[in-house]
Amino acid sequence: MELIQIGKNTYYIKNNTNIGIYKINEKDIYLIDTGNDSDAGKKILKIINDNNFNIKGIINTHSHADHIGGNNYIQNKTNTNIYAHKLEQIMTEYTIFEPSILYGGNPHNDIKSKFLMAKPSNVLELENNIPEYLEMIKLYGHTPNMIGIKTNDDVYFIGDSLISEETINKYHLFYIFDIKEYLNTLDYLSTLKGKYFIASHIDIKEDINDLININRNKIYEICNTIINILEKDKTFEELLKNIFEYYNLVMNITQYSIIGSVLKSYITYLINENKIEYYFDDNKLIYKKSIKNNVKV
Ligand SMILES: [Zn+2]
Repeated sequence: MELIQIGKNTYYIKNNTNIGIYKINEKDIYLIDTGNDSDAGKKILKIINDNNFNIKGIINTHSHADHIGGNNYIQNKTNTNIYAHKLEQIMTEYTIFEPSILYGGNPHNDIKSKFLMAKPSNVLELENNIPEYLEMIKLYGHTPNMIGIKTNDDVYFIGDSLISEETINKYHLFYIFDIKEYLNTLDYLSTLKGKYFIASHIDIKEDINDLININRNKIYEICNTIINILEKDKTFEELLKNIFEYYNLVMNITQYSIIGSVLKSYITYLINENKIEYYFDDNKLIYKKSIKNNVKV
C-alpha cells in the first residue's frame, strides 16, 4: 500500500481496492472506503498513523465486502463515524444482505466467505452529513445506491462505476445490480469534468471516456449474446451454463453466485425492454427470445 498525493488536500492509497483520503485541516481526514478485510484496515490505519492523520470519518461508496471490509477494524480502533447512502447504509450494517442477494435466499456458509460478506460496522446516513468541500454524486447501478465523491481538488472517486478493460476481458460479466441504472450512470460519467478519476480497481485516470465506451459496449454485447442463446428456449440453469461456456468461465460456488446474480440482472433488463420473455412448462421456468420485438439492443 502506498500513499499518493494528487491534490492540495486529496490523496489516495494505491491498493487492490483504492482508498481515498481527503484532508479537511492539518490533521483530520476523511477516508473513502476501507478495502478487503481487517488486514487492509490495519494497513490503512498504519499509514494514517505514520502520517499523523486523524480519521474524522469514513465514507463508503457502496456496501460490497471489498469496500467495507476494513470498517469494523478501523471503527473498533478509532471509534470513528462511518457514512453510507440509503440502502448501502443498511447493507453495510447488516452484511448478511450481500450474500443473500447473490444467492437469492438465506445463504449457506460457503456463500458467506469474506469475499462476499464483510464484518458489520455501525453506519450513519451520508446524505445529511456530507463534509464541507466534498460532493456526493449518485452512481446507481453497480449496487442499488452506490455513490462517488468529488473533492474540491477536482478529483472524483467513482467506486465501481467503471471496470478495467483487463477485468472485462477476463470475466466479461462484471457485477451489476441494475443494468439500466448502470447504463444511465455511464452516460452521467461521460458528462463529468475533472482533473483525476479514481475508480476503485483501476489506476488513476485523467480521461475516462474510452473506458466508458468499453464498459457500455460489453454490456450491449452480453445482452445480444443472451438473446442469441435464447433463440432456443432455456431454463435459467441452461442459460447460465451456456454463458459460462461462451465466455470460458470456471464454475465454483462464488462464481456461480456472482455470475448467476448478474445474469438475473440482465434477464430483468431484457424482460423490461421486451427483448426476452418467459413461460412455464412442466413446472419449469423457461426463457425465450421475444417474438414481440426482434430488434437488437
Ligand atoms: Zn462493488
